[in-house]
Amino acid sequence: MTDTSTDDEREQVSVPSEIEFPRLLDFYDLQTADQTQIHEFYDNLRAGQFTTTRCTECDAIHFPPRIVCPECTGDALEYVDLPHDGELFAFSAVRGGLPLGLREHEVPYVVGVVDLGPVQLSGRIDDAAYSDLEIGDPVSLKIVDIDGPTDDDRVFYRFEPQ
Ligand SMILES: [Zn+2]
Repeated sequence: MTDTSTDDEREQVSVPSEIEFPRLLDFYDLQTADQTQIHEFYDNLRAGQFTTTRCTECDAIHFPPRIVCPECTGDALEYVDLPHDGELFAFSAVRGGLPLGLREHEVPYVVGVVDLGPVQLSGRIDDAAYSDLEIGDPVSLKIVDIDGPTDDDRVFYRFEPQ
């Protein structure tokens, strides 16, 4: 039998010490004017304003913001302010299976649908455990800065109990 256990004869393989964060696993939208036509939403959010689009033809308000009205297909849209306070319409807990882009989160965490009046939207509910919450609870907007993997200053919205 041939001895294949000596260091001289073994081939060495290696793995990278770091893996570049894949863009496809970046959970957050690219937000600049050359990356998205709804950059104004992110510009406003960065400035502390929560906005969405309203169609000046048919008055429909949409969330997320649009570049064409889904009601009348017009493209005369303007940005309007949304309330920062709303009510928890539904919620659930995320307990596992997080993609790489969400590795900063600790499970379990809560996601919910928030009723702001003009629109309902989903988002993470920070600073609350599932067992602490009830449908109808008042929640407020919370704006967070996104760190990496692009060089752009990015923001996103969440909610937190009042
Ligand atoms: Zn419209």
